[in-house]
Amino acid sequence: MLVFKFGGASVRDAAAIQNVASILSLYPGKKLTVVVSAMGKSTNKLEEIVEALETKNHKLFSGLVDELEEFHMDIMAALFPERHFKIYQTIEELFEKLRSRYEAVFSENKSFEYDQVVSLGEVLSSQIVSAYLIDQDFSVQWMDARKLIRTDHSYQEGKVDWKKTEQLVRENMLPSFIDTDILLTQGFVGHTLEGFTTTLGREGSDYTAGILAYCSEAESVTIWKDVPGMLNADPKYFENTKKLEAISFKEAIELSYYGASVIHPKTIQPLQNRNIPLYVKSFLDPKSDGTVIQASSSQDHLIPSYIFKFDQALYSFTPKDFSFIVEENLSVIFGKLSDLNVKINLMQNSALSFSILVDQNKVKRTQLLELFQKEYEVKYNEDLSLVTIRHYDEETINQVTKGKEVLLQQRTRHTARFVLK
Ligand code: ASP
Repeated sequence: MLVFKFGGASVRDAAAIQNVASILSLYPGKKLTVVVSAMGKSTNKLEEIVEALETKNHKLFSGLVDELEEFHMDIMAALFPERHFKIYQTIEELFEKLRSRYEAVFSENKSFEYDQVVSLGEVLSSQIVSAYLIDQDFSVQWMDARKLIRTDHSYQEGKVDWKKTEQLVRENMLPSFIDTDILLTQGFVGHTLEGFTTTLGREGSDYTAGILAYCSEAESVTIWKDVPGMLNADPKYFENTKKLEAISFKEAIELSYYGASVIHPKTIQPLQNRNIPLYVKSFLDPKSDGTVIQASSSQDHLIPSYIFKFDQALYSFTPKDFSFIVEENLSVIFGKLSDLNVKINLMQNSALSFSILVDQNKVKRTQLLELFQKEYEVKYNEDLSLVTIRHYDEETINQVTKGKEVLLQQRTRHTARFVLK
């Protein structure tokens, strides 16, 4: 069995959904688990709906729900011209339920409310895509991922209970392949022991594909994207990008740790654990090879990869009492940073100072200064960028640092990082 994942862009309109069907038709008779995301930008819209529910703004709420419904109805009108299709009733009922949430109590636990509402995007999408595939004579069954993936109660970032999920997949999902070829389900969603819906974190549908592949010991996972595979840099910031043909699980985790955003970072681990290859392929050119991520690292070093992070701020802390930056000082600094929930992109210390690089927009400068200024002299520098090069050489370094001031650099055997002004 193969697992396929189609993200929001690959189901954003009727033509895109028809394209999904044409990709699936390249795999006749094959057993497929197909995971879909919410259509287009529906998840963002649903997040706005949650805000409107919280602030009890009825006008805003009903306007947003109307827009979301219209968006789905337009897609359905193109896919199912005759309104007698049962899917219209299914979708209308889902919207009726959403509208009725306005009358319900919005509990103290906003993350809980979020999950109950925002998960709807994937439910709508999977219902429409499965109805279309059935209409096109594919052998398809709709599957409720909220009944397969068991998580804890961490709403908005459910932690998977692997044992229970594996049991549910084996008992409730795999037997359905006896009389169907394609099981179509939702990304991003799970459920608690009590049956409440949870979500796995934004962009979590890739992770769903990884979880289902792990639990069913699938042959492979394919993530269908609007790029030809994993590129060695983001084409928005880099000319002449190259496609990586094959990289190891370890390399993929390293790249996503440094900020490459092609695959949701949690996706790799379950696949690595069961040695299930992951393909990243283009839904615009489905017959081309794409990138494979697998166990072997023999090709990792062939092409250097570049990861850019902009809007960075560099803070340096020097103890006012002239004490050295050793373990005690570091533990105080880390304690304070963790209290502020600061995520560090890079750090470095010398005898008397400790420097961190952070996302400028995520860290409140005044708060940080307030917390440290009594005991430390704090200096900062903003509007910087961080460039990470995996498998660098001098030429690649010159290329990215040319004409820039290097404020800080770090090199290990495979990775070079530069803070640039
Ligand atoms: N629909 C969710 C999101 O936009 C999950 C996903 O697409 O992966 O974050």
